[in-house]
Amino acid sequence: MPELRQNVITKDWAIFATERAKRPHEFIRPDRQNDRLPAHKPDCPFCPGNEDFLGAEPFCIRDGDRWRVRVVPNKYPALSATGERIRKVEGIHRIISGVGIHEVIVEHPRHDLTPALMSIEDVRNILIAYRQRYIDIRKDPRIEAIVIFKNHGESAGTSIEHPHSQIAAIPVVPHQFRVRIDEAIRYFDDTGECIFCRNLRDELESQERIVLESEHFVAFIPYAALSPFHLWIYPRRHVSSFDQSTDAELADLAYTLKTVLAKLYYGLNNPDFNYTIRSIPTDETYTDYFHWYLAIVPRVSKSAGFEIGSGMYINTSMPEDSAQFLRDVDIPVL
Ligand code: ZN
Ligand code: ZN
Repeated sequence: MPELRQNVITKDWAIFATERAKRPHEFIRPDRQNDRLPAHKPDCPFCPGNEDFLGAEPFCIRDGDRWRVRVVPNKYPALSATGERIRKVEGIHRIISGVGIHEVIVEHPRHDLTPALMSIEDVRNILIAYRQRYIDIRKDPRIEAIVIFKNHGESAGTSIEHPHSQIAAIPVVPHQFRVRIDEAIRYFDDTGECIFCRNLRDELESQERIVLESEHFVAFIPYAALSPFHLWIYPRRHVSSFDQSTDAELADLAYTLKTVLAKLYYGLNNPDFNYTIRSIPTDETYTDYFHWYLAIVPRVSKSAGFEIGSGMYINTSMPEDSAQFLRDVDIPVL
């Protein structure tokens, strides 16, 4: 019989259709023609030699006269960096002027890499860029929330091949943030404990869904994962906002993130995926109830009408099986 599971953090329900369940290897992506990319593409705006195309860079990590990671303004921003935040109410409608920051993190000079194939040092540089921009952007009083995310591959929403991620700082707290925060506050008020810390303790105790443990982080598949191979990476230390991470934590997160992405890359043949870093809204840096984390969503299945109609998800892969599969993936030494 199928099983419905609820995610205690998000309150989302997922249906685990055990009769329709697939074995983990059934999610391996077939080879595609465009899998082989050139190391450098002369007409790519993110490749070395085309730096002037995107204008002033708010942040850059250099190694001599070569750059390692660059942050640049998004050429087609969803939000305008200039202007005032103005809220209006017209009848039942609410409107806020579209001010905010929308930047691209060019993750590496090479066109053909992805974090799964980069060195840990390269991934650490990307995380340092995220943290620095987070620290700088949060000073802007128009900003309420900062979303760091990566789209990899066409079904994850990008057609740009060059490895990149994005940071979007928005003038409002999204409803989805509010729901998670309200639940976390309720749990803290009832128990005096952070629900994420509790979740982490339970996962470590059961070990069934753990993919990787490092000194400062734990990667696991949530009990009620909404889609196959959906992964969460939690810091072991209770911290509410990503920008409060220490240098030692970022170095360890670089190892953890790279290793988990490499397990997906080799285990499922370079699947399209998104990841996002979830932090508390920028008005606060520390709370007892909220714990930042990184969520990875491989795009190995499609949601459809049922998901739209119910807000529930059908997952054809059992979290315990996909965690076991990823634990067993060996990463070749390059
Ligand atoms: Zn490029
Ligand atoms: Zn916590």
